[in-house]
Amino acid sequence: MATTRELLLTERARARTRAAALDREFAGIAAAASEEGTDDEHDPEGATLAFERQHTAALLAQALEQIAEIDAAIGRLEEGTYGVCVRCGQPVGQDRLAARPAAATCVQCARVK
Ligand SMILES: [Zn+2]
Repeated sequence: MATTRELLLTERARARTRAAALDREFAGIAAAASEEGTDDEHDPEGATLAFERQHTAALLAQALEQIAEIDAAIGRLEEGTYGVCVRCGQPVGQDRLAARPAAATCVQCARVK
């Protein structure tokens, strides 16, 4: 059974790999767009590239957010406040932590957000 810390580090490594791949993908799309000199607004191909670029950027932002979330969870682990809801101070709950080890809030607070 892996410790919570190991679990978080594994998740973090996975998120980083995903972010790096998305970053490359994003660079590739940008390069393709500039090579073809497509016009995002009027060229159908350009519109597709623009959409892909937006989509990839959103996924990349998500991955980076996840890394930040995991970093914060590791920080709380070191402070000894891991598993305590950052909003209301109640336990986050074992089930929730099992499903989302980086969860910073309990189910109730996550719902309010
Ligand atoms: Zn809470």
